[in-house]
Amino acid sequence: MNITAEQMRFWSPEVRELEPYIPGEQPKIQNILKLNTNENPYPPSPKVVEAIQKVLVNGADALRLYPDPDASELKQAIAQQQKVPVENVFVGNGSDEVLAHIFKAFFVQDLPLLYADITYSFYPVYSQFFGVKTKVLPLNDNFEIVIADYKQPNGGIIITNPNAPTSIALGLAEIQEVLQSNPNSVVVIDEAYVDFGAESAVSLVEKYENLVVCQTTSKSRSLAGLRVGYAIAQPHLIAALEAVKNSFNSYPIDRFAIAAAVASFEDQAYFEAQNAKVIASREKLVNELSDLGFKVLPSSANFIFATLASKDAGELANELREQGVIVRYFNKPRINQYLRITIGTEVQNQRLVETLKVILAKS
Ligand code: PMP
Repeated sequence: MNITAEQMRFWSPEVRELEPYIPGEQPKIQNILKLNTNENPYPPSPKVVEAIQKVLVNGADALRLYPDPDASELKQAIAQQQKVPVENVFVGNGSDEVLAHIFKAFFVQDLPLLYADITYSFYPVYSQFFGVKTKVLPLNDNFEIVIADYKQPNGGIIITNPNAPTSIALGLAEIQEVLQSNPNSVVVIDEAYVDFGAESAVSLVEKYENLVVCQTTSKSRSLAGLRVGYAIAQPHLIAALEAVKNSFNSYPIDRFAIAAAVASFEDQAYFEAQNAKVIASREKLVNELSDLGFKVLPSSANFIFATLASKDAGELANELREQGVIVRYFNKPRINQYLRITIGTEVQNQRLVETLKVILAKS
C-alpha cells in the first residue's frame, strides 16, 4: 500500500523513518518447495500435538483466564533441559521478541553496540527502533568473525552462533575471549541454530556475569508457528529483561504455547533424533552441491550458504522459483552471489538437486 505524505502526518515522526525487517516469503501456492526461512522440514514431537489437544479438551474453560504471566512451568522445563537454575531463564514470544527486549534492556548506551556486517538482519532494525548506536565490524574474507575487533570500547556485543546467513560456527574459546575482554558490556550470543552442530555457550553462563544466550524453539524443535524463544543468563540480567517485558506485554506466551513447548522440552529423544536427521541430510546435500560445482561454506546450521562461479546467484534464485523451489537470496554487498538454502527432507533435497541439474544443463 502506498501511503501519501498527507496520510503520513498521522504517524509518529519516528515511525515515518523506520526501515522494518522483511521476513522471508510464506507463499500461499501449493506444491512449492520452501527452503527459504530455515524452518524444520519435520513435524514437532507427537507429544506437542497431544499437549495442545489436552488444552482444548480438558482446559478450554481455562482459556477464559489469562495465562501465567511468568510461564513458570515452561521456564522450569527449559531449566531442566538446559541444566540451569530456573532463575536463569527468560521466555518470550519467539526469540525475536526476546532479542527486542535484550536491545532495550542492555544496548541503549552512550557507546556503540558491536556486530558483524553479515549477520542477522534484524539487529540493525532493532537498533534503529530503540535508538541503539552501532558499529558494524566486517567479517574476514572467509566470512569469519575477527575476534580482535571485539576488543574496542563498546556498549554491548551481539554475535550469532552459528552465524546467519553464513552458517559458520565460532568455538567457545573465542566466545570466552570476547567475554573476558569486555567485563563491563553485555555479550549476547544468539544461538537460534546452535542445535545443528555448534557448541552452546549456555555452559558459560555460570562463569560470566555479562553473558546472555538466546535460543528458540522455532528451528530445532519445529515450532516456528508457536512463537517461543528464551534467554539464559545470570539473575541480575534476567531481572532487566523481566522489567522490560512487564513494561510491554505481561502475557507474551499463551496457554497453548506453554503446554506445547513444555511437551517439546520433555521429549529430548525426539529432538535429538530429528536433529541428527537434519545434520545427516545436510552433509549429503553439501556433497551433491559440491559435485555440481557449488562452493558451500562449512555449515553448523540447518541451512547452507552456497555460491556458484558460473552462474549469477540472483538469476539462479529466480530460475529455481520458476520451478517451484524457493531459496533465500540477499541482494546485499559481499553476499549477492550466494544463496541461503534451508535443509529439507531427503526427498525435498533431491527435488532441489534435480531442479538445479536441469537449470544448469540449460545455462
Ligand atoms: N535469530 C536468528 C539468527 C534468526 O535467524 C531468527 C529467525 N529468523 C531468529 C533469531 C528469530 O527466531 P524466532 O523469533 O522464530 O525465535
